[in-house]
Amino acid sequence: MSKLKAVPLALAVLFGGWVGAQEKEPTTPEETEIYKPVPPKVIPGKAGAPPSDAIVLFDGTSFNNWISSRDSTNAKWVLNADGSMTVKDKTGDIQTKQSFGSIQLHIEWKSPAEVQLDGQNRGNSGVFLNGIYEVQVLDNNNNNDTYVNGQVGSIYKQHVPLAMASVPSGEWNTYDIIYHAPVFEKGQKIKSGTMTVIHNGVLIQDHVEIKGTTPYIGWPKNPPHGKGPIKLQDHGDNSRVSYRNIWVRELD
Ligand code: MG
Repeated sequence: MSKLKAVPLALAVLFGGWVGAQEKEPTTPEETEIYKPVPPKVIPGKAGAPPSDAIVLFDGTSFNNWISSRDSTNAKWVLNADGSMTVKDKTGDIQTKQSFGSIQLHIEWKSPAEVQLDGQNRGNSGVFLNGIYEVQVLDNNNNNDTYVNGQVGSIYKQHVPLAMASVPSGEWNTYDIIYHAPVFEKGQKIKSGTMTVIHNGVLIQDHVEIKGTTPYIGWPKNPPHGKGPIKLQDHGDNSRVSYRNIWVRELD
């Protein structure tokens, strides 16, 4: 073998040996078992109740964890005897006192049984993550069509839901939302946020990229931000949307 051929061969043997040392196939079951750290124990809630480590934001008894988004005074929405709340028309959005980054959010909502108005004006509300990224709440039942990137379960004007999974108007829907906040550095977004939404047990947003804010008019914007509140929308057309059983688990 010439010297020229011997050099690459020696390198290959050397490199192959190194790779082999790193990725040697395990020969016992124990080599592929991990014991620590042990994940925390969480007791799941029964029948829709919050799990043991959740922060309960609304349990039907008060608006203690909420304020008006307009002026930070007490939330002006209606507290119902059945443990829910209803948007009070034209009193403005409400938001949590507490701020959050990445979270798992559970929230239940219903459109009024008595249907009125059409398109974007039928049971329009919304759940805003970080106060600025809207997951649409809308009554699209009974062929109430609208632009699909603004229908129920859309990330408003950014992502069309994978399915329309609403229960009939007047019945309770669930949203389970996994939100990962965007990352900013020196005033610039260096990593987009993501959203996963499960609507009544149906995956409707699959880890989609949040392009920015979700305005009615114009492109998404990316103002730098830290943690923010969870905001619920008063769309201003007597939507009469109700909410109940709201809790979060912080992910960072
Ligand atoms: Mg809305």
